[in-house]
Amino acid sequence: MDRWSLMGEFFSLVIMAIILIRYYGYEWHVAFTAKRKLFLYCLLGSTASILLNIVSVFCNTRAGSIPTWLGALLNGAYFAFTIATCSLFALFLFRLTLEHVYDQHCMKRATAVISALTAAYLLLVAINLFTGALFYYDQAGNYCRGPLNRLVFLLPIIELVLLILCYLRNRGSVSARVTYVIRSLPPIVLMLSLLQIFYSELYLNGMLSSVVSLILFISFQTHTSDRDSLTGIRNRNNFLAELSLRLAGHQPIQIILVSLQFFSDVNLRHGHKVGDAVLYEVARYLEYLYPQGRAFRTSSVNFVLVLPWTTQEQAEEALTTIRRRFRQPWVLGDLSCLLPFCMVDLRCPGFGDSPEEIVEQLEYSLDLAKKENQSLIRFDENIRRKLSQKRELIEIMRRSMKERRFQVWYQPIYCCHDDIFCSAEALLRLSDYRGNPISPEVFIPLAEETGMISELTWIVLEEVCRLLSSGRLPGLKSVSLNLSMRQLLDPELANHIQQYLDQYHVSPDRLKLEITERVLLHDSQYTKRQLAALSAIGVDIYMDDFGTGYSNLSSVLDYAFSFIKLDRSLALHVPGDQQASLMIRSLMTMFHSLGKRLIVEGVETADQADYLRSCGADMIQGFHYARPMPGEDLAAFFQEQHGSEA
Ligand code: C2E
Ligand code: MG
Ligand code: MG
Repeated sequence: MDRWSLMGEFFSLVIMAIILIRYYGYEWHVAFTAKRKLFLYCLLGSTASILLNIVSVFCNTRAGSIPTWLGALLNGAYFAFTIATCSLFALFLFRLTLEHVYDQHCMKRATAVISALTAAYLLLVAINLFTGALFYYDQAGNYCRGPLNRLVFLLPIIELVLLILCYLRNRGSVSARVTYVIRSLPPIVLMLSLLQIFYSELYLNGMLSSVVSLILFISFQTHTSDRDSLTGIRNRNNFLAELSLRLAGHQPIQIILVSLQFFSDVNLRHGHKVGDAVLYEVARYLEYLYPQGRAFRTSSVNFVLVLPWTTQEQAEEALTTIRRRFRQPWVLGDLSCLLPFCMVDLRCPGFGDSPEEIVEQLEYSLDLAKKENQSLIRFDENIRRKLSQKRELIEIMRRSMKERRFQVWYQPIYCCHDDIFCSAEALLRLSDYRGNPISPEVFIPLAEETGMISELTWIVLEEVCRLLSSGRLPGLKSVSLNLSMRQLLDPELANHIQQYLDQYHVSPDRLKLEITERVLLHDSQYTKRQLAALSAIGVDIYMDDFGTGYSNLSSVLDYAFSFIKLDRSLALHVPGDQQASLMIRSLMTMFHSLGKRLIVEGVETADQADYLRSCGADMIQGFHYARPMPGEDLAAFFQEQHGSEA
């Protein structure tokens, strides 16, 4: 044998060395899973078998100078390693193929067949000393191929055929990357077999295993983009892939979302390093909780566990186990911290036909759990209905925005000192396509959530500016407009408002901006700066809905509000309820002494109005005086007022 016939093996050895070095370069602590271990065994087995091939060829070509027993031992070891490695690769490929299939019958059967075949082949190697079926040494000590020598090549072919059959049976749940690997194997085996036929002096056994290792390595091991870099568990992309494969394979699954709440507290109190370590612990716990479970980190503090859904009891037990664990503290060295959490339980089939739909349902349920302060929400028909109503509503809003169906109505505001209507509040109105009105209390939060609120605010602002500049409303000194929190975050807010005022030649003191009390809960420094910027362009700011319990008095006084609007819940029980009446009177005295003016909203009866006026209310807004109305009606309303005044 000349040395060129071993070129393929030397080349394969180099490839294997590169793969092994790269493979060791990964962060083992992150995810040294059973799958990774198996692949490592494949790599080590291949390398050993290539090395043994080279050494035994070397011995075989030096008959006489190397003892026959050593040659026989090395050749036997080569056969044994080649057979075992081939089977390890086969098992690894089966594992990849069935990665997203809970029913592991196929895997069990494949393992049994491969183990039996491997055992038979290894037996053949062991008794070769006596039979000479694989190889033997002639009288002169030369290496000779035995009658069953080529039978070794049959093993990978049988395993490949089994693998293809398994793939065809489960292909709905086989990922694109595994499909690519499986499809690329037959041509490679064919090509190397042809090469072997035409160049029988070449040794190509190592080439096959190194090429397969390379393909697997490139396809999977270098792929870190589907792993979360902090915890090493699967990430969101991987979760979506998992869902689509499980759904395609019609496999019943239970999806448990665990969301950590107020996690920034952990970071603030103990530092980010500890925060990271806690997240790592949580990920490990979920990852190793169930052998068939698969854990994902879908966002910074959200983890998902996907389990096979077998029985109701098993599903409930999983929820109880996780809940119980999360109610216990997480211990890291001498530190112990409790993590408040929310959980969502969703089962498929039943809920969700696509990964996107499932993700939407999980997110919606999580919001619901947070809003309702529940630690566990089970996604059911009722929640599904609510979600589909929400989707419908968003669709109506999107269409209405395009078709300019949103209307701006105005509710006149009565000025107590002048005994006349002097202002109005702009309020958005929308109805569905059957003509039923949709309450702003329903669509405004959705507009905030979807980001539509910005465009809507500009629509209202433009309408208000148009109305104020029309000159058709005698006595209308100002109009107020509601701003949402999201709007207040816009650093260009003051500039935008200024542009509209300039465009319609409206004096800034005719525009009032209402900001709800809830806004004060957010970043106070930023809010203060924004309010200062608005005041700087000459626009007055009203505090809306005062008394709904979101902020305390001192924080309200910290801001530059010229008017305070008392919420309708405060005016509801006056003058009948003595305590409520006393409270309103005291509040008014106090605000007045601090230089603020007061508007009371939601006034529905003459008694209420009389009492509030007697307390010194500056303005009153409510159904008792006037209901919200379209711009045209408001013009007629003010003209009539003006007329009667004149
Ligand atoms: P708000 O700013 O506190 O508006 C006053 C709400 O009280 C209006 O409800 C008005 O119709 C209602 N109201 C006035 N007088 C009475 C009364 O005597 N009795 C009763 N029961 N209700 C009265 P509406 O129009 O349903 O608006 C609800 C909320 O939606 C508003 O509360 C405001 O927070 C929000 N909103 C409305 N339009 C807009 C808008 O253009 N932008 C933003 N960001 N929010 C808006
Ligand atoms: Mg308001
Ligand atoms: Mg209000």
